[in-house]
Amino acid sequence: MAEETKDGPLEDMSALQDQLDELNAQITKQGSHVRQLKKDGAGDAITEAVAKLQELKVKSAELSEKLESDAPKFNRKSFDDLVLRKMFVVPSFEIHGGVKGLYDLGPPACALKAAMIDLWRKHFVLAENMLEMECTCLTPHAVLKTSGHVDRFTDLMVKDPESDECFRADKLLEDAIDNLIEENPTMSTEEKDKHLKVQIQADAFSPEELDKLLLEYNCKAPSGQNYSPSYPFNLMFKTSIGPEGTAVGYLRPETAQGLFVNFRRLLDLNANKMPFAAAQIGLGFRNEIAPRSGLLRVREFCMGEIEHFVNPKDKSHPNFSSIADKGLVLFGRDDQLGSGKTKLVSAGEAVKTGLINNETLAYFMARTQLYMEKIGMDPKRLRFRQHLKTEMAHYAADCWDLEIQSSYGWVECVGHADRACYDLDVHGKATKTPMVATTRVDPPQEIEIAKLTLDRKALGKTFKKEQRVVSSALEALAEDWSTFEPIATALEKEGKAMVDGFEVTKDMVTWAKTSKRVHEIKFTPSVIEPSFGMGRILYSLLEHSFYQREADEQRCVMRFTPQVAPSKCAVLPISSSAETNAVVDQIAAELMESDLSTRVDKSSAALGRRYARSDELGVPFAVTVDFQTLADETVTLRERDSTRQVRLPKAEVTPSIFAIIHNRLTWEKLTARYPMVTVEDGA
Ligand code: AMP
Repeated sequence: MAEETKDGPLEDMSALQDQLDELNAQITKQGSHVRQLKKDGAGDAITEAVAKLQELKVKSAELSEKLESDAPKFNRKSFDDLVLRKMFVVPSFEIHGGVKGLYDLGPPACALKAAMIDLWRKHFVLAENMLEMECTCLTPHAVLKTSGHVDRFTDLMVKDPESDECFRADKLLEDAIDNLIEENPTMSTEEKDKHLKVQIQADAFSPEELDKLLLEYNCKAPSGQNYSPSYPFNLMFKTSIGPEGTAVGYLRPETAQGLFVNFRRLLDLNANKMPFAAAQIGLGFRNEIAPRSGLLRVREFCMGEIEHFVNPKDKSHPNFSSIADKGLVLFGRDDQLGSGKTKLVSAGEAVKTGLINNETLAYFMARTQLYMEKIGMDPKRLRFRQHLKTEMAHYAADCWDLEIQSSYGWVECVGHADRACYDLDVHGKATKTPMVATTRVDPPQEIEIAKLTLDRKALGKTFKKEQRVVSSALEALAEDWSTFEPIATALEKEGKAMVDGFEVTKDMVTWAKTSKRVHEIKFTPSVIEPSFGMGRILYSLLEHSFYQREADEQRCVMRFTPQVAPSKCAVLPISSSAETNAVVDQIAAELMESDLSTRVDKSSAALGRRYARSDELGVPFAVTVDFQTLADETVTLRERDSTRQVRLPKAEVTPSIFAIIHNRLTWEKLTARYPMVTVEDGA
């Protein structure tokens, strides 16, 4: 199962895009034909060829226009208005003028986020027996120095020399390329691809390369001058811990480090069994240079991180068969630099062909896809993009970002990285704590090792106080001939080799390849890490859920699934009589007792108006207590998206909604049980 992705409403768009690509390729070909004819002085043939070229260009422009007008419509104004008015998201400290990159979640978004996190816990932590932790946000310098964040957690920044305003250099380049392509609709596919390839690598360029490109793409600061040269800016918020002000600390930029430093205890708690995963949900802080795009790039955000510890020599996953057939839309690195197209591939096939590095990585990617579908994300707007070689950390084996398409384009929302042994290795070395696990080998095995003889005098002369660190590193490598062999080869060929950043020379060590009988093998586990940006997922879900009713664009709806909807049911009285209100209160109390959050709206607004209000909050069901209720104890139950209603005994309301929320019943099945009612909904 490997095909280019074309499905649903996007199918037509994708076919149109193919036609456009084809036309643009013809334009390039015809353009070069015209140039050749002109060179050859071909007379009438030139006129004919130019006319054909013009005709192709007109067709291409028409097609581009059509593509644009057929793109799914998203009414940003209505969306933003709803999000703010209903207090899904509001700027933090608004009455004091606000702070860029800080947002507060209002009541409906809090409930939505709680439901998303509840499902995340059930889908990952509970389903897989993960060990959940809550580590502190304040992190001492030593931890983040060791992890590499103090030295390398940076973005390249440029300034407007006149105003000192700061900008992220890679984003300026990306925007410049977007603008260039937008302003030149007849640009040949070849040329467009050339620019897109530069754009896709924007965050991987060195400061010098970026400076050159900013000039090449004519990027000017708001003052009209060239930007300052770019330089790295560390994104961590620095603070001091304790009253003396001498202990430097940072607000954590990710939750992962807390799990790594607890590895030994976690392994012990897990009865030394491997593989296993630890998980954490909590805040991360990043002092983003130029936060923009609403909730997508903020300075404080909720993350959900999983660290799956696995034997580097066996990255199979025990539950892989459960997701092997799951189709994933993959945008591999070769396709990013080549065809520019994604492929729909099953997780099993992607591992078999080596597109995804290993089963565990693919397993988590498929589980992430399933989670997104569960919370109601539009599956047609999800894809996994592989990191280019230049984007990946040197130690990483493979990385895939789940990207979600929103009005801001494709945005990374979940990173999936095979980080190899890097994290445990660096913390182990810095603290001299063995971050290792063991596997039993039964029956015992002969393994090849290197038997070392160290010249302590020579080591001491060169490394002084660090002598012990170097000798321990050599001895650890010698435990397995396959890890020592590259060192042995370098020492033999070049007389020196790098061991953990130290240059070891041939006079310091001699070795012999030998074998040893072992009952267990020690290893530093590899880490496979899915890292969820909950804020980005929440924002994308708001966009994917938003629509306007066809009959009346004024009426906005959030199509949250019943499982994540902030409120599950609205209860509305048709009159304000005491008798009616008593029934409303009784139904609401019953719903709440079953943990179904309920919104009672007793206002005097027309019923249609009250339905519209609950639609805006994405409430999936509304119960109306009317005059008939008082006569026969029945009520109407309305479903938000179809606006269809059934009449059912009021005692059936809570069990029915409860069953739907817990996936034991569907609205369709429910409508078959009870009579439909035709009422003026006003929706
Ligand atoms: P990273 O560790 O950079 O791969 O980030 C992990 C996840 O955190 C990303 O996939 C994003 O979803 C999220 N994330 C990173 N930076 C931000 C930000 N500034 N604002 C909101 N979410 C972010």
